[in-house]
Amino acid sequence: MSSAVMPTYARADVAFERGEGPYLFDTDGRRYLDFGSGIAVTALGHAHPHLVAALQDQAGRLWHTSNLFRIPGQERLAERLAAHSFADRVFFTNSGVEAWECGIKLIRKYHDFHGRPERWRTITVGGGFHGRTLAAIAAARTEKLVKGFGPMVDGFDQVAFGNLNELRAAITPETAAVCVEPVLGEGGIKPADAGYLQDLRTVADEFGLLLYFDEIQTGVGRTGRLFAHEWAGVAPDVMCVAKGIGGGFPLGACLATEAAAAGMTAGTHGTTFGGNPLAMAVGNAVLDVVLEPGFLDRVERMAGLLRRRLAGLAASHPSVIAEVRGAGLMLGLVCAVPNSEVIADLRACGLLTAPASDNVVRLLPPLIIDERHVDEAVAILDRVCAEREEKAA
Ligand SMILES: *Cc1c(COP(=O)(O)O)cnc(C)c1O
Repeated sequence: MSSAVMPTYARADVAFERGEGPYLFDTDGRRYLDFGSGIAVTALGHAHPHLVAALQDQAGRLWHTSNLFRIPGQERLAERLAAHSFADRVFFTNSGVEAWECGIKLIRKYHDFHGRPERWRTITVGGGFHGRTLAAIAAARTEKLVKGFGPMVDGFDQVAFGNLNELRAAITPETAAVCVEPVLGEGGIKPADAGYLQDLRTVADEFGLLLYFDEIQTGVGRTGRLFAHEWAGVAPDVMCVAKGIGGGFPLGACLATEAAAAGMTAGTHGTTFGGNPLAMAVGNAVLDVVLEPGFLDRVERMAGLLRRRLAGLAASHPSVIAEVRGAGLMLGLVCAVPNSEVIADLRACGLLTAPASDNVVRLLPPLIIDERHVDEAVAILDRVCAEREEKAA
């Protein structure tokens, strides 16, 4: 596949031309059940009528004005996000990593604003992922992300995920914040214990640190709550979201309490495209659906069903699936064979999934799936596992 596109991705040789709900249709007209959702992005499936109408309506009126002017859609979406979260202030971006980095800047500014500019370092966890800018790869510090891109941006210290003693020991007078994903996504679908997240809150308060949750993958209903940290009953000071909030339109947001955002005054941060009227129309339309009474309860029900069915599969095919883990509709199959082969076999049988670290196959179906889609996905998984076992025998 020779192409003028920079070859930074290991792409599968398939292209899609149409989508409908949880299904994608390739250029040969073949149908696939999309349980990858473009990596947790198309949370309401493809071509959701309410999202299509919102985007088409906005496209006919106004695309872009810049942040030199008020953008009513931003004010509305920010108010709604604040009303349904711990946050008071929202900054809109075009991508996940921009939203994440806005949070890092906000954290440094917060301490500077309070006369503590020496507090500028953020503690992250091993296996975390925050995007691909120079700061984000320095924060995650995975070999694959950083190799050849040195020297690394300074200001990040790393401890083991889930280890509170290591975290406490890593805190210095320069520490400003702790940043974790409530469920490690790229890192292999590893949920944090509720107790760990609660302890992070306690430690942050004890040392005057800001607590920063990266909910770019876990947020906007993915785990059956609007935000995954709600399961633990703790609130962060700062949170970034993206992926699902745009339903496929590039959109991210950094949310913070009024206190944490104290230093983010006029002129301190900005973006040309972030929060433009098109993105805001879609973001508000996504919230219309996700906030409908009963929507998240249904996600939780479907998640429970899928989880039980996957556990059954793992029990009957232990030589292929070693473990099922995750939260809500963010599930990982830890494979006993190479995950890339399982993903290719599933794709050949019409089921799309995504890889993750730790030899995991990630299932990130759209939040609108029903029992039939669970049945269909499980039947394909069952067939692929059985064929693998036959080959091995
Ligand atoms: C995807 C992701 C990012 C990066 O988002 P981009 O839109 O690719 O920049 C950051 N953090 C987490 C947890 C993610 O899943």
